[in-house]
Amino acid sequence: MKVYYKCPNCKEENQLKTSVGTRVEFAMENGKNKKYNCGNCNQNNILLVNNFYAKESKLVSIISGIIFLVGTLIGLYFVMQMVYKMVTVMGVFIVASGLMIPVSVYGILKKEDSNRVRTFNQTYVSE
Ligand SMILES: [Zn+2]
Repeated sequence: MKVYYKCPNCKEENQLKTSVGTRVEFAMENGKNKKYNCGNCNQNNILLVNNFYAKESKLVSIISGIIFLVGTLIGLYFVMQMVYKMVTVMGVFIVASGLMIPVSVYGILKKEDSNRVRTFNQTYVSE
């Protein structure tokens, strides 16, 4: 996942890719102080691992948003069709349950992503 830090010099937010999921693992991988070159002002910073933080993924937000939107639209389309054709209450009920699928997928994706962020951000390495 990606972790971020704000450059102490120019306050620009930098990002870096890491394979680890927690700050403790991040510290084990990089040491407690990590040298990092700011991509904006090019200053060499020595940063505490605790200064790095995770953020919710834009990609997950976009993907789950699309699933939510498309799924809901498709579901609504079928509901409209059924209402139009006067099908049974049971039929509407089935489609309405189908509508819950994109809603749950959206919920699960968002929840997993915020769990990931929380796991990283809530563990601190003792200095
Ligand atoms: Zn900088």
